[in-house]
Amino acid sequence: MDRLLARYPFLSAAREAVGEEGGDMVALVADGGPPVERAVERVETCLREGTVGDPHRDPRTELLSYPVARALVSLVDEPVLVRRYADAEARTAHRRFTADLDDDRELQSARGQRISLRRLLAEFDLSGKVEDAPEGYRITVGRYLSLSGEDWRLVARPLADGWVPVSREELMALLREAVRERVAEGLPQAVPEEIADGLADEVAGVESLLADRSPPREFDAVAPELFPPCVTSLLARVSEGEDLEHHSRFALVSFLVSMGLDAEEVEAIFERGGTGAETAAYQAERLGDDGRAAYAPPSCEAMEALGDCVNPDDRCETIDHPLSYYEAALDDAGTVPDWRETGGSILDRLSGD
Ligand code: SF4
Repeated sequence: MDRLLARYPFLSAAREAVGEEGGDMVALVADGGPPVERAVERVETCLREGTVGDPHRDPRTELLSYPVARALVSLVDEPVLVRRYADAEARTAHRRFTADLDDDRELQSARGQRISLRRLLAEFDLSGKVEDAPEGYRITVGRYLSLSGEDWRLVARPLADGWVPVSREELMALLREAVRERVAEGLPQAVPEEIADGLADEVAGVESLLADRSPPREFDAVAPELFPPCVTSLLARVSEGEDLEHHSRFALVSFLVSMGLDAEEVEAIFERGGTGAETAAYQAERLGDDGRAAYAPPSCEAMEALGDCVNPDDRCETIDHPLSYYEAALDDAGTVPDWRETGGSILDRLSGD
């Protein structure tokens, strides 16, 4: 059994290996043995920690747990789970291949488990499209654009004959995105009834974990350009001097406090529009510190019911909370400058001034 395929089960060669090792999937699932247990762990850990956890010591179990986890995610059939699962597989793979590629010691025990850059590039149609360059690598514009998403713009990037220079870290991030796309591809998939029956208890377990999940509360950076559309709209209304209704002000202030803004910073934002600054500061003060842990902004469902869900975009389809939107946007963007380090006003940053 190829250990490398167990560590990287999204590789195309792994599909064939699953067929050879797995035999009858219906029987495998009905058996409920280690591959099913590890599949549940893969999915639950993606919700709890944002990774798929440590690999099982038995490579066959590890390999077979991947298609079972995909079936489980498909049966739960929630966009937020598909997104988090694909992110978690990609994050885990990124850690593994970064370590593999950084570590050029040929330890006997690890021989055959490590992936090479050449193989990764070939897997994702990047052979001949990534080359060594003086400062790291260069990648063709077409593949750069397809993998970098809208947040890694070409602005300020030197372009030469259709190539874009990227650092090693950026190349690793592009490969992570390629893995994320590969994992998300085809999810949710159709699952035969017999397999669905065999996974009924596991599906119920994941559904209940999903229902209990509170929104994320810790973020690496405050990046106003990544705020969800509802929050951007509320900020625009404030800057135009509109006196927000209580529920809208609460949604905005609690979001800003969740970002780590203090009462003074919130007050400064409302002062620009000239309305409601004192109330907002008071609210932020009460929500701050201890309150921050207790009061998250309203969920998307509540925002919609109150008329505060405005201009939802594609990412909104995959989340259920404005803070989850922001977390997903940050994940997709990679490294972004923190608003506090760049200075200026949040409103100016949103309007591009
Ligand atoms: S779906 Fe949620 S995050 Fe998106 S605009 Fe509506 S409330 Fe905001």
